[in-house]
Amino acid sequence: MTTAQAPRGLLNRRLAGFGTTIFAEMSALAAQTGAINLGQGFPDTDGPEQVREAAVRALRDGRGNQYPPGPGVPELRVAIAAHQQRWYGLSHDPDTEVLVTAGATEAIAATLLALLEPGDEVIALEPYYDSYAACIAMAGGVRVPVTLRPNEGGFRLDTDELRAAVTDRTRLLLVNTPHNPTGTVLDRAELTAIAELAVERDLLVVTDEVYEHLVFDGVRHQPLAALPGMRERTVTIGSAGKTFSFTGWKVGWVTAAPRLLMAVRSAKQFLTYVSSGPFQYAVAEALALPDSYFEALREDMRAKRDLLAAGLSQAGFEVFRSAGTYFVTTDIRPLGETDGFAFCRALPARAGVVAIPNAVFYDDREAGAPFVRFAFCKRTAVLEEAVRRLTALT
Ligand code: PMP
Ligand code: GLN
Repeated sequence: MTTAQAPRGLLNRRLAGFGTTIFAEMSALAAQTGAINLGQGFPDTDGPEQVREAAVRALRDGRGNQYPPGPGVPELRVAIAAHQQRWYGLSHDPDTEVLVTAGATEAIAATLLALLEPGDEVIALEPYYDSYAACIAMAGGVRVPVTLRPNEGGFRLDTDELRAAVTDRTRLLLVNTPHNPTGTVLDRAELTAIAELAVERDLLVVTDEVYEHLVFDGVRHQPLAALPGMRERTVTIGSAGKTFSFTGWKVGWVTAAPRLLMAVRSAKQFLTYVSSGPFQYAVAEALALPDSYFEALREDMRAKRDLLAAGLSQAGFEVFRSAGTYFVTTDIRPLGETDGFAFCRALPARAGVVAIPNAVFYDDREAGAPFVRFAFCKRTAVLEEAVRRLTALT
């Protein structure tokens, strides 16, 4: 496993210490060892054939092969606005309130680069997705983690702790629901507390909702932007990667009120300017798929979650309830292990499986040490084989 470090004194202070992303490291380890990759979150089957064909058609018809418009092709911006209306009753002007980005990753980067002044504090739910920390750092911001803690079988937000973390220097709350890596879906009370706090302290809210269609057990995703007082202060981030199982296409988006959208666009135009031309047309078609598509995706992923969660439990892990996303988080202490890093490094040799140590998503590495994340967005036979291998651990 490589922990590539840039040469001493070359990489600037803001990025020093971030090393190689854990996803690249762990996927490389899987490739090297031939282990089953339940690390990096990507499906091992592509999305709908008709969506793939739509991309081929766009490419052949010469749509998007040259620079598309900076904010994204109109067809896609209209489709994104229609999607927010259809699922959440949120209305957005496709011209002034929708921006297409190079995946959610660029949306996160552009948003933080646009909105933060050096020294501004950003409150992020911990464990946090790795790019949040790097982008806050690149923008010169200060990360203030508020930790989700094991509670009633899952990981929950302590809203008093969140409130206590706000200072006069807090600029924005960076939220992620459904949450990677815990699988937590923030409930109405948690979301309301976030919204009330944002209004009371006049904070911006950036909410990463890329797993919006992967919420299980009859619960529906609730976008923060739909809560009272939030429409004007919220930047919502989405992505086609998870919803349509084409993570390599890197089509993401931002929806926000015009003044916020304009700010994000100012930064985005100097990052990639534009990307994914033909894929934008295909995603526009995908967003209009019937409800049955979204239901089938959710149901398929729910069954996979159940399979892997039950298998991990049988193999001796403590398994936290995953209410959404591609992921289930476990505690390895029942296996007599305490260090998730060491455990994940050894796992390919011990069991032929790759997983992600949640500690990388914590400032307080000790707090995250015993937690390990497994991805269930894989074929049933692959999950079954992984479970078989993991069961042999004990
Ligand atoms: N946010 C979260 C929470 C994610 O898990 C991911 C990656 N899967 C992203 C953002 C990045 O999404 P994209 O691939 O669209 O850049
Ligand atoms: N979001 C994916 C995960 O959490 C990884 C994406 C990436 O490699 N940056 O596994």
